[in-house]
Amino acid sequence: MDDVVSPATNEIARPKRDAAPAGAPEGGVDVAKLRKEILAELTYSVGRSPETASPRDWFVATAYAVRDRIVDRWVVDHASKDKRPEKRVYYLSLEFLIGRLLFDALNNLNLTEAAREALAGLGVDLDVIRTAEPDAALGNGGLGRLAACFMDSMASIGVPAFGYGIRYDHGLFRQGMRDGWQQEYPEDWLSFGNPWEFAHPEIDYPIGFGGYVEQVYEQGAVRHVWRPGEVVEAVAFDIPVVGWRGRHVNTLRLWSARAADPLKLDAFNRGDYIGALADRVRVESISKVLYPSDETPNGQELRLRQEFFFASASLQDLIRRHLEEHGDLRSLPDHVAIQLNDTHPAIAVPELMRILLDLHGFEWADAWKITVATFSYTNHTLLPEALESWPVPLIDRLLPRHMQIIYLINALELEAAKKKRAADDAMLASISLIDENSGRRVRMGQLAFVGSHKINGVSALHTELMKQTVFRDLHALHPTRIVNKTNGITFRRWLSQANPGLTSILIDAIGPGLLDDPNELMKLLPMAGDSALQEKISESKRANKVALAKIISDRLDVHVDPDALFDVQIKRIHEYKRQLLNILETVAIYNAMRAQPMRAWMPRVKIFAGKAAASYHQAKLTIKLANDVARVVNQDPTVRGLLKVAFLPNYNVSLAEAIIPAADLSEQISTAGMEASGTGNMKLALNGALTIGTLDGANVEIKERVGDDNIFIFGLTAQEVEARKRRGHDARAAVENSAVLREVLDAIRNGVFSPGDPARYRGFIDGLLDHDTFLVTADFDAYFAAQRKVYKLWRDRDAWMRSSIANTAQVGWFSSDRTIGEYAEDIWNVRPSLG
Ligand SMILES: *Cc1c(COP(=O)(O)O)cnc(C)c1O
Repeated sequence: MDDVVSPATNEIARPKRDAAPAGAPEGGVDVAKLRKEILAELTYSVGRSPETASPRDWFVATAYAVRDRIVDRWVVDHASKDKRPEKRVYYLSLEFLIGRLLFDALNNLNLTEAAREALAGLGVDLDVIRTAEPDAALGNGGLGRLAACFMDSMASIGVPAFGYGIRYDHGLFRQGMRDGWQQEYPEDWLSFGNPWEFAHPEIDYPIGFGGYVEQVYEQGAVRHVWRPGEVVEAVAFDIPVVGWRGRHVNTLRLWSARAADPLKLDAFNRGDYIGALADRVRVESISKVLYPSDETPNGQELRLRQEFFFASASLQDLIRRHLEEHGDLRSLPDHVAIQLNDTHPAIAVPELMRILLDLHGFEWADAWKITVATFSYTNHTLLPEALESWPVPLIDRLLPRHMQIIYLINALELEAAKKKRAADDAMLASISLIDENSGRRVRMGQLAFVGSHKINGVSALHTELMKQTVFRDLHALHPTRIVNKTNGITFRRWLSQANPGLTSILIDAIGPGLLDDPNELMKLLPMAGDSALQEKISESKRANKVALAKIISDRLDVHVDPDALFDVQIKRIHEYKRQLLNILETVAIYNAMRAQPMRAWMPRVKIFAGKAAASYHQAKLTIKLANDVARVVNQDPTVRGLLKVAFLPNYNVSLAEAIIPAADLSEQISTAGMEASGTGNMKLALNGALTIGTLDGANVEIKERVGDDNIFIFGLTAQEVEARKRRGHDARAAVENSAVLREVLDAIRNGVFSPGDPARYRGFIDGLLDHDTFLVTADFDAYFAAQRKVYKLWRDRDAWMRSSIANTAQVGWFSSDRTIGEYAEDIWNVRPSLG
């Protein structure tokens, strides 16, 4: 191992934090006026005086003042008939991981500096009240964050859109640590109200469950009438979503469940107070809590109820709007595009069919044509255990009419398949909506596919694999339906807001045009070797690292050196993401340091963050292992502080915003073929971190753009993974051949990191040797070698900064504005009005 460094570290002066970048104001902002408005909100909306107001009160007052400006534009956009858009996009997603919204709104309205000044005049620090806003975590991870980035981009490039989802009372659990073990605590983002939302109790729709289907004969034809056994009301809550420069405002409409009959008065009068409320509690549980699973569906009835609840409410809402504006459902696909974010809303396909057939009297063929032309579906995973399916008896009981429709869709699809191709039984079984292998289940992926005119994967590799695996036969039948739409991120949040220091340096270097067109970042490339620019960027990175070091010391009491290499892996904890590989490398460095304590080792900090699904034992044990390794390494005097490990609890959007600008190295090390895209990889590269990663998901496309010299690629390719699995991977042999890995696994297995419970990791390591499903042992040596290359480059500050700048310069393509532009053109057939 040669990651040593000469003891002379170059101490860099602590830089000033530059002011946030200024986009050209539209209309200019009167600071005094804004201050007056904030004060008025504090007094009349919050009911507080400036003397007694808490940071939260100031936050709410500021949010109201900002919101008023958004609403002015929102109302104009939505009220006037002549501004009515030709076509709207409806983005259906069970998750929106939006995070805090104050800086989104301020930044997009170009009000950040004015608000800072207005508040300063009142003795209030904007950066303090910013943290008083709860982090809205109505999502688990990448999928939900993508929906949030898309909402920002649709508003920014002027795609008229509604996001539809659920207003969960409790978002994703708060992660705490007890003795290194993950603890889940309920999250309570609404407990002090939400200043961004507008309750619309008057916008409500009945959502049925259960009951039976009746056939009525009308004019010689059969009509089906679903008589639900129970009805829940869906009530709308709207959050305005303002785009860049405030030119367009869309709506995020979240549904909350309300009992149609809130109180059984007769029961109450009989003295049965609990019974009088029981129904209400049961019904309203639908929007009580975000389903806390990631990648693995769980067969809970409540989850299916959530899916139908929000799909049905959203369809009723958009159909009402369409009928008001256009009068006839035949033209639905001309004015409406519905995007299904994963299969969670796929039950909307039979629901739209039911509405067209049973409520509006359409013939099947016409209804189906309208449905397919209206829907499109985004696939997010190929992991077999994550492909959603529901037991037929459950759908039959909860949604009897939908089950009939699904059967008929299936019969017609299979019929058509037989006609089109010489379909054998295996092929028919693979395209069938009903999985007969595991006790008759409805496959939501197949349902979403046949009900959509376009199906997209989220990176080039993922889309290719989709064609070859899950949807191979459906793709053969419908060869033009699958398209690729590589994910993106909104630069407004992940560059401008999260990293104002870097943003202002970039603006000084290449002009403010990059705020409107991320491709302008390319202009940086010829300057990558400019030592003055390198110096400025590395000073700003260091300031971000100092800020992160403070968070680490405040939260973990671990003290890290801001001049060390910050090696970052932040994402959900999942076996396929292979946090374990990173921990094993950490232990390898530790072993080497103990073997040769007096060598001048290069300082490094391993930073982890991420939540594990509450029921995911293996992932939770991985968190415990990271914490156990951290405790031992951080306290070992032979290490002399040159290696530190920090697992920051409660990863969420706000924590990501603090870590990403401070990262030097971005860990994207999933087993090739398993990460659909990743978006964390894009955020980190944009902020100048170099990627160490496998050829998986969007890493492939990041490599194509930044160039082989500016990224550390290692490990088996997706094809090689496939081949290795087919022939069977022998983990024990791999370990036999790697002295470093053997020593690492022995140390963990023998309790070096769990002295109080030496057997803790015995089963874990033995399991890895018996079934290394994610090929950790297969990729270890290559990963280890790639890390050595990282450290070699790190020693050459000029070369490192050159690569870092080359990353920032060349990832403009990963803006979600680009992604949304492609959806608009190829899938939705809408023309963005801006950008
Ligand atoms: C971007 C983001 C993710 C997705 O990260 P990946 O590395 O792509 O899995 C998850 N959670 C949060 C809070 C994020 O900001």
